[in-house]
Amino acid sequence: MSYLVLARKYRPQRFSEVVGQSHVVKTLINALKLGKLTHALLFSGIKGTGKTTIARIVAKALNCLNLQEGYEPCNECQNCLEINKGIFVDVLEIDAASNRGIDQVRELIENLKYAPAKGRAKVYIIDEAHMLTKEAANALLKSLEEPPAHVYFILATTEPNKLPPTILSRCQRYDFRRLDLKTMVQFLKSICERENYDIETSALELIAREAQGSMRDALSLLDQAMAYGVRTKEDVLSALGWHEESLVEELVQILLERDLKKALSLSKSLYERGLDLIYLMEKVVEYLRNLFLAKALPGETPLHIENPELKELFVTTSQEDFLVILQTLLRDLEVLKRTPYPQLQFELTLAKICEYEKLVPLREILQKLEEFSKSGEAILLPQKVEAQKEEPVFLKSWPDFLEKLQKESFTLYTLLSHLPEPEINSQEVKLKLKGNEEFLKSTYLPILKEKIEKYFGKPLNIQVESQRRSTLDEIKERPEVKLIAQTFSAKIVNIQYTKE
Ligand SMILES: [Zn+2]
Repeated sequence: MSYLVLARKYRPQRFSEVVGQSHVVKTLINALKLGKLTHALLFSGIKGTGKTTIARIVAKALNCLNLQEGYEPCNECQNCLEINKGIFVDVLEIDAASNRGIDQVRELIENLKYAPAKGRAKVYIIDEAHMLTKEAANALLKSLEEPPAHVYFILATTEPNKLPPTILSRCQRYDFRRLDLKTMVQFLKSICERENYDIETSALELIAREAQGSMRDALSLLDQAMAYGVRTKEDVLSALGWHEESLVEELVQILLERDLKKALSLSKSLYERGLDLIYLMEKVVEYLRNLFLAKALPGETPLHIENPELKELFVTTSQEDFLVILQTLLRDLEVLKRTPYPQLQFELTLAKICEYEKLVPLREILQKLEEFSKSGEAILLPQKVEAQKEEPVFLKSWPDFLEKLQKESFTLYTLLSHLPEPEINSQEVKLKLKGNEEFLKSTYLPILKEKIEKYFGKPLNIQVESQRRSTLDEIKERPEVKLIAQTFSAKIVNIQYTKE
């Protein structure tokens, strides 16, 4: 006895057996009951969601000799049985994607005028209707405009946008949805029970998730799983060669935590295990995309996170951060696919994302610095310890002043040493500042003023030149930024302007 694949064995034969798509089924049943079914139907939706299956049920409902309740085919009469076997002369299934399809369309148009040979209605199911050639579509269009009373067209397509608008406008459209996880798992479970096959629910959940709403894909995966004798989630992962979901979650968590050390050590272990880094990165992108959508459209996107720490990170990570990580991953995924050094590229990507987060602590540091200076508290920074030198010859020059200042206060020295050298004339000490007017608000200013005036014996005059926004390079040159970068051994990667 040959093995019948699950998708065929458990293909629904009547409306009551259809899984999901209740909005489609309900409308069709009503139309059939009232005898008001449109003569041109368009079934659109992703593969494996039941378009052809429901089309066949409709064909049976239109031809069954023993119709139940006005819509449900009996599956026992001659006509039903022949339709089920695919040998009923009045129901023709055409694959528009195949070469034969084009001839079949011509032939069917020729034969439209003849009354059905055996049944009540001629039903033409055109699969992959968007693949019809222009001529075939044009010829079909005429028939769609005024189909004979005994003729029904059911066009099925995964890409309705590729159909000519003239055809679209003549069909009543039914959108088939992706099946939700719960519905799929329930159905897979019921099949396993009927097959007397013991399998953990978590394994079925994994299969259903991988199928992404296509029941046909889910059933074909279940076929494979059964062939391998898979019983547990772990079995599924190893038998079907998938990366453990927890691994994807672990990597996502590390990226959201921006923990470079952990990231690199995980990368090392992945390498040792010989895992496919491209596939893994694709899975991470997919996972993060879902998180991003759940963040951007809360309530509309169901969120599935098992790990409680990751859940917490989801809450604390901003939408913008998700976007930046996703952009980085997507860009680098393309590079990863081409590089002869995938491991290195993978690590670079992880490092890029982990380092990016360094911006946030820096932003916080700047904020703290501001708070400190507002409250007038001194900032404690490591003092540079230097061997005491002999007092140099006293020269009233800026470099000399700085050198002296360096010994007194490293902080003040750092602040000043990165400012342009002031112009010192007989009247005053003139300090020109470019764009960093916040320096004027600094609590250090009075101290500096006092020190400068004491040293040079002249008043300090500060001029702020322009108020335009500074460039990254200019900001990097600012004393306070340099000070922070120096203190934390940090690198300035990016700048975000605050609202003020
Ligand atoms: Zn029947």
